[in-house]
Amino acid sequence: MAELQLKDIRKSFGAVEVIKGVSLDIHSGEFMVFVGPSGCGKSTLLRLIAGLEDITSGTLSFDGQVVNGLTPSRRGIAMVFQSYALYPHMTVYDNMAFGMKLANGSKEQIRKRVEAAAEMLQITPYLDRLPKQLSGGQRQRVAIGRAIVRDPKVFLFDEPLSNLDAALRVATRLEIAKLHHDMGKTTMIYVTHDQVEAMTLADRICVLRDGIVEQVGTPLELYERPQSLFVAGFIGSPK
Ligand code: ADP
Ligand code: MG
Repeated sequence: MAELQLKDIRKSFGAVEVIKGVSLDIHSGEFMVFVGPSGCGKSTLLRLIAGLEDITSGTLSFDGQVVNGLTPSRRGIAMVFQSYALYPHMTVYDNMAFGMKLANGSKEQIRKRVEAAAEMLQITPYLDRLPKQLSGGQRQRVAIGRAIVRDPKVFLFDEPLSNLDAALRVATRLEIAKLHHDMGKTTMIYVTHDQVEAMTLADRICVLRDGIVEQVGTPLELYERPQSLFVAGFIGSPK
């Protein structure tokens, strides 16, 4: 059964429709990548799934339950942003603990979870620092750590590597792949405009074009059987 089901999702800002009827099933444990050019609606679609924006029409279900209208924290979803979105006045520890405090975790529970996530991401030495005392790569790990601590059923990533330099991009990409593996059944939805990231991380890729789904398939399917020149151009296959 699909864990996440999008049925004819539409989103308008004022008179402008930017998501134009997206239907898609995302399976439990799947690593789904949304790719497409800048402005095609990737971030908007992710924000609709997270509940950070209201859907104009259509139905979004998790585990068969319609979640339209549920707040982000009640959806069991955690999102990692391109800009990290850390609280500048809080330490790394407090940034990571923040989501759990909101969810009323006990102090001991919170400490255990933060320490385990910090260990996994190798940021234990930085727990007492402020975000401004960290490099971009370390900040992005903290942002990922903050998501892990919340133990979400679904992780959303919005171009998490785009502010990192080339070497760190590769290292962090491998870490995200490892994270998906280590976390077992956690579903991940990952937005990028980078073909290499899409091809290497995805179980399936959803190619978006101007607010619609152009094609969905495994990296190999899209490479071997692109349904349009747009997909072929994007994936880099020879059609
Ligand atoms: P992507 O992430 O693929 O680059 P976005 O989802 O950010 O694209 O944006 C899709 C379209 O929606 C763009 O034309 C953008 O200008 C528009 N858009 C996004 N957010 C808003 C908003 N809050 N108000 C008005 N227009 C928006
Ligand atoms: Mg975007």
